[in-house]
Amino acid sequence: MPDHHAASLPPPSALDAVIIGAGFSGLYQLHALRDRLGLVVQVLEAGDGVGGTWYWNRYPGARCDSESHSYCYTFSDELMAEWEWSERYPEQPEIMRYLNHVADRFDLRRSIRLGTRVVSARYDVEANLWRLRTEAGEEIAARYLITAVGCLSTANVPRIEGLGEFGGRWVHTGEWPHEGVEFTGKRVGLVGTGSTGIQAAPVIAQTAGHLTVFQRTANYSVPAQNAPLTPEFRQYLRDNLDEIKRTMRETTNGHPFRISERSALATTPEERLALYEAAWAKGGLQFRATFKDLLSNLEANETAASFIKAKIHQIVRDPATAALLADIDHPYAAKRPPIDSDYFETFNRDNVKLVDVRRAPIQRITRTGIETSEADYPLDIIVFATGFDAMTGPLLRIDIRGRDGLSLRDAWSEGPRSHLGLGVPGFPNLFTITGPGSPSVLCNMPVAIEQHVDWITDCIARLRADGLSRIEAKPEAAEDWVAQVNAAAEATLLPQAASSWYLGANVPGKPRVFMPYAGGMAHYRRICEEVAARGYEGFALS
Ligand code: NAP
Repeated sequence: MPDHHAASLPPPSALDAVIIGAGFSGLYQLHALRDRLGLVVQVLEAGDGVGGTWYWNRYPGARCDSESHSYCYTFSDELMAEWEWSERYPEQPEIMRYLNHVADRFDLRRSIRLGTRVVSARYDVEANLWRLRTEAGEEIAARYLITAVGCLSTANVPRIEGLGEFGGRWVHTGEWPHEGVEFTGKRVGLVGTGSTGIQAAPVIAQTAGHLTVFQRTANYSVPAQNAPLTPEFRQYLRDNLDEIKRTMRETTNGHPFRISERSALATTPEERLALYEAAWAKGGLQFRATFKDLLSNLEANETAASFIKAKIHQIVRDPATAALLADIDHPYAAKRPPIDSDYFETFNRDNVKLVDVRRAPIQRITRTGIETSEADYPLDIIVFATGFDAMTGPLLRIDIRGRDGLSLRDAWSEGPRSHLGLGVPGFPNLFTITGPGSPSVLCNMPVAIEQHVDWITDCIARLRADGLSRIEAKPEAAEDWVAQVNAAAEATLLPQAASSWYLGANVPGKPRVFMPYAGGMAHYRRICEEVAARGYEGFALS
């Protein structure tokens, strides 16, 4: 493999577009602009490999919660036909193999510069160019700037007093060391019980001498019911490819299953229980689709919540631990619902202990471990599964400046404002793939990504065909879209989870604004198509 670090960057103004990031978004955007439109494109990627979130999140148990046959690109039938997933949910190494295969198959690497972190991007109004600077001080310029930086790529390490003095080793799941972490015989503390902590705990417990799970907010989880894909299922995929793709495009969340038409409240308790049991046995995010009103009606939601809480009590043998795990303060799926492989079962192991850090918060980290207001926990390794500065974090850590030096950080000081999550007023020719204000994280990500990339590609093609070179979201369109994002969230139970990262509530000082568009992917797709059909309504073109 050639060294993709060493190649010098193209000279200024030689480029049509620069893309930041070589994950799912960046790879497809590169292919679409370079190979479909014939543009000159450069991708800059901070990591030493392609893969984006899957490059960084190598923690034990890292696996996708979307089913493998839907967690992939659909733009190429040949690619879909030739790639075979091994399991219902792909593990991190398998997704990395897939994305590396895509990079090779479409000859993408020659346009990707690895190990190159962009620190700033400035819009030069006279030249109508974006001028970027890398950490190494190199400069590059292009007409279009497309951020493909992901929604969950800025690790949120909590600022806990004393962390610097810890005598053991600490790691964040989102920046996992490539050489791995040896847990054998070690006393491990795991902070965080979101999707990541829930995936990691069972795997760490298998080798650790002892695992202490520090839980601040208890969480729902449904079994993933992961298994190898059978020959019958593979045949089903081959026979139903078009139907599966259609379902993914037509459903609210971009998954290959449809949400039931039934209301939980219009179903008898016996029938409801049977349906929940069947959904539990089937496993996965599909549990959320058992009834149509689980995310819009609190009473309906409560039927799912109490079913899962009862399961926790059935699985976990120690009643006090079970009670703590089931003491959940938000509606089911108001936070992104985790799915697991033996998470609750893990608390039946002799080497695992659950600690309630809501009642007795972490006070500080000492040289020897974690100190809560109640006790000291001696540890050799601390694993922070404490999530991300989501959606805005990856964009705001780059110093992005638009017209008149306006910084994105200032423009978004009260929360992100953009038109469709795609374009920001004051920042011409900047496109934000799966940016805040788009469905992104509420959707099966590759579906959301492909829709954005296709829209951006069509938009740039249109501009070129019409002899135009500038597009910029209008302030009033962004205001209107922010109102629509808020209204869509308010129509659901999602804002009711007080500590949710959807609201930015997990990062101290971050504005509390519901960031993703909750009106459904299929609806959003139609809105984007209408905006384009009306000559990019809400955008100024010149
Ligand atoms: P998360 O959902 O934000 O969860 C972070 C956890 O850390 C929460 O339990 C939080 O408690 C806790 N925490 C944070 N700071 C803390 C502190 N100072 N003291 C004690 N506890 C603290 O993060 P995540 O689990 O990494 O998941 C983020 C998102 O990534 C998911 O929602 C999902 O979208 C995605 N993800 C996907 C997959 C997949 O598809 N396989 C896997 C993992 C993650 P509070 O709730 O009290 O703040």
